[in-house]
Amino acid sequence: MQCQRYDIVVVGAGPAGSTAALAAAERGVEVLLLEEHPRPGLPNHCAEGLSQNGLKDAGVNPTPEIVSQKITSMRVYAPNGRFLELKSPDMVGYTINRDAFDLLLSTKAVEAGAELMTETRALGVIKRGGVVSGVLAERRGMRFEVEAKVVIGADGNASVIRRTAGLGRWFPDVVSCAQFRVGNLDLDNPEVNEFYIGSKYAPGGYAWIFPKSSSTANIGLGVRGGHREPALSYLKRFMDSDPRLKDSKILGVAGGITPVSGVLNRIVGDGVMLVGDAAGQLIPITGAGVHAGVVAGRMAGEVAAEAVLKNDVTAPTLSLYETRFDANWGKRIKESRRVLEMLDRFSDEDLNMLAEVITGEDIIALANGLDVTRVLTRIFKRSPIKLMRLMASYIRG
Ligand SMILES: Cc1cc2nc3c(=O)[nH]c(=O)nc-3n(C[C@H](O)[C@H](O)[C@H](O)COP(=O)(O)OP(=O)(O)OC[C@H]3O[C@@H](n4cnc5c(N)ncnc54)[C@H](O)[C@@H]3O)c2cc1C
Repeated sequence: MQCQRYDIVVVGAGPAGSTAALAAAERGVEVLLLEEHPRPGLPNHCAEGLSQNGLKDAGVNPTPEIVSQKITSMRVYAPNGRFLELKSPDMVGYTINRDAFDLLLSTKAVEAGAELMTETRALGVIKRGGVVSGVLAERRGMRFEVEAKVVIGADGNASVIRRTAGLGRWFPDVVSCAQFRVGNLDLDNPEVNEFYIGSKYAPGGYAWIFPKSSSTANIGLGVRGGHREPALSYLKRFMDSDPRLKDSKILGVAGGITPVSGVLNRIVGDGVMLVGDAAGQLIPITGAGVHAGVVAGRMAGEVAAEAVLKNDVTAPTLSLYETRFDANWGKRIKESRRVLEMLDRFSDEDLNMLAEVITGEDIIALANGLDVTRVLTRIFKRSPIKLMRLMASYIRG
């Protein structure tokens, strides 16, 4: 069997993988980036929401090619239809074009010296003496081995690298999503992202309307746990319930899984690292993973390249990446998970009550896992007894 050799092989040219490949190639090591599809960024299964800071951390400018709509505020709807409007300079963001965004990140990796091999699927890691030493891949029916000092698994939630490296089979909690790209709309204000919570819309998750312009939007939802029907059925009902969507045209269908149980216990082993969805690095309340993915990708790429240059790719050396990620993002993901578990105990009626006492700032902090104990304590003090009971144990942490 044919065999190729690189310092680092990154599997998956999504945001996390391309950023890892870029960071490693910038340090002068030999990097191969494998992607199973013919072109990074397609197919696109994303609502395409990204904050201004997320775009900045990806090292990407908000050009018309990348950004389709600037977003300046959010509306969060309670089950009873009451909504909270959230607006602050900190939360300005975009509906991006994920296909162009992912392609640009992979192009940057190539420009930095990484080799991109498309239409190539990794089938699993190769181990020598129990240690990961490369990947087995397949391209146009031909199988071949790629030897590498470090394998970075950036191959999404179903990661074959994670499973074959023994870092975890599946996530204990995932959201099933369905989404339509919708046209022929006449939105009053396309700068507003809308979120709808409650079991009537999306049990265990939420529904979203992310405008791409005043006439097109990504409209979708994610369900979890107690749903009795597929996400698509809830989505069709959600669309039917909104008179603004009466004359809309469905331009495309997307869907997918977001792992929301938090970062896996082990995301590093000897000669192997996981980044992005493969590692569970999404914010559990929102299911957003692009920002965390590019941050993790950059950290993993840097640490992997330094480890190669030092000739020490053992787990303790590679785990510097984990330590760096945990210091900020890992902590936020844990806290956001704690809030999600608390909200799981809220009925629609409780959520309506919560909407009366929560502020826009509180929502942003809780959703992003920032200052959770302090924010919950603040809300607790304004809450009726029933909510206090539901929140008490989560405030203690
Ligand atoms: C419906 C939906 C809406 C979402 N909306 C948002 C949102 O608005 N904002 C946000 O931040 N996040 C959102 N997310 C989550 C976000 O899409 C992910 O967190 C993000 O894409 C993770 O990036 P990644 O690079 O880790 O993985 P991915 O983007 O999944 O990339 C993995 C790449 O690996 C490739 N690959 C997989 N297996 C192999 C293999 N064996 N060999 C070679 N290549 C392989 C894939 O083709 C893909 O290119 C959404 C998710 C869903 C399902």
